[in-house]
Amino acid sequence: MFMIMLLLCIGLNILFCMSLSTSLREREIRAIFCSVFAVAVNSIFWGLLIYYQQTAVAKIVGAVAVIAVLFFCAVSMIHYFPKVDGLQTANTGIEQYDERDHMFSRNSLQCYPGIAKEYYDKHPEFSEIDAKIHEKPELGEKGGRFYDSYLTPVAAAAFNVLSKTQHLVRGDRAEDKADIDIERFTRIIKEIAYYYGAVDLGIARLKGYHLYSHAGRHQENYGEPIENNHRSAIVIIVAMDAKMLKEAPTVSAILESSKQYVESAKIAHIIAEYIRSFGYDARSHVDGSYETLCVPLANDAGLGEVGRIGLLIHPVYGPCVRISVVTTELELPKTKGKNYHIGTFCQICKKCADNCPAGAISKTGKTSTRDFEHWSIKQENCYSFWKDVGTDCGFCIRVCPYARPNTLFHRLAKYYVSRNPLNQRIGLLLDNLLYGKKIKMKTVSEQSKTILQKCAACSVDVT
Ligand code: SF4
Ligand code: SF4
Repeated sequence: MFMIMLLLCIGLNILFCMSLSTSLREREIRAIFCSVFAVAVNSIFWGLLIYYQQTAVAKIVGAVAVIAVLFFCAVSMIHYFPKVDGLQTANTGIEQYDERDHMFSRNSLQCYPGIAKEYYDKHPEFSEIDAKIHEKPELGEKGGRFYDSYLTPVAAAAFNVLSKTQHLVRGDRAEDKADIDIERFTRIIKEIAYYYGAVDLGIARLKGYHLYSHAGRHQENYGEPIENNHRSAIVIIVAMDAKMLKEAPTVSAILESSKQYVESAKIAHIIAEYIRSFGYDARSHVDGSYETLCVPLANDAGLGEVGRIGLLIHPVYGPCVRISVVTTELELPKTKGKNYHIGTFCQICKKCADNCPAGAISKTGKTSTRDFEHWSIKQENCYSFWKDVGTDCGFCIRVCPYARPNTLFHRLAKYYVSRNPLNQRIGLLLDNLLYGKKIKMKTVSEQSKTILQKCAACSVDVT
């Protein structure tokens, strides 16, 4: 019994020390305090039992404690979910989404009065709310709460570069189609993605509902039906720096998202160009030039699940990711998906909804639109808040338990909650205990002036 108690004491303390070291790296005061407290209580508890092991009370308490811990471990390992959640990918009748209804497209209408009149005649329900949103300063312009005259233009510059490279999404392919070993070719595509900075890549069969029905972002092709007959979609995931997103909704959020939009676009362009060099058609889909809806595609490519937040929740990086896509006429082997039961976790979590400053996230179940059940956010509330703060907010990403940094402790936690619903409830309780349920939002005075140095990738001191 002595050995078992000693081993349990050491095992639990290793776990608590992992939590402590992660919390120290994250500078999460509450989590640091809880971890130190857990190490102390655990050491004292088992230490007393071992010290008084000859007494009857210690024997009984020790036996009960050992059985309880072992029982808890055994239950934690059970892999069982009574109900399988996830996007109804088998439903091919899902209606296509019209890009013209997207808030970004509707925001651009203020620049095109002719198109705007036509759109609002058809959609009077958006007319009043959009007019209010149009009046607010654009992202990157002076007037947003977190506007910084030196830092905000960095993000604006990144988005400008992206818009200036839109022509890269298409390109001429080599005249002759090369004979390729499709397995090797697919492997090389994955290697290219990882080599240039992706953290994950999946391949899905391209279906109708993965594509917008009509283009809506740019005047030159506004309202044109999307015609894309490609067979496969390569979905590329890049991770945002959790440290930068922890500062959301300050300017660091838009700095990091713009950076990763550029990174994901770069990878998609290279892969598309690579495929075309073998004589096969390919198109990259990147910020501002998507024909595809990235979130359902990433879901179908086995890269995670759609969360309450309406974004992809990746099993390792959570919603802290950006996505680009390459579609191609080639029939590449599909990625086998795995169910991480993230949707089931979202059913009980609601942390994003409780913390969203704009009330844009549903606190209830999924709703059925376009002939399938899914979570979607009130994009008007969300975008309006973006314009108020002058960044792309990301506070829902910041509070999400899946967005914790990719450390061993958090990987273990994500594995733990993927086993069964009881683990998910315990996991959520622990996340609330360590990080709090209601998270305080940063104020303007708390916005760092040396934000770029916070990024994990920046090791050079520029002071
Ligand atoms: S980005 Fe901000 S406003 Fe939009 S849903 Fe997330 S928390 Fe709410
Ligand atoms: S905060 Fe919770 S409910 Fe919201 S997306 Fe993340 S896990 Fe799901």
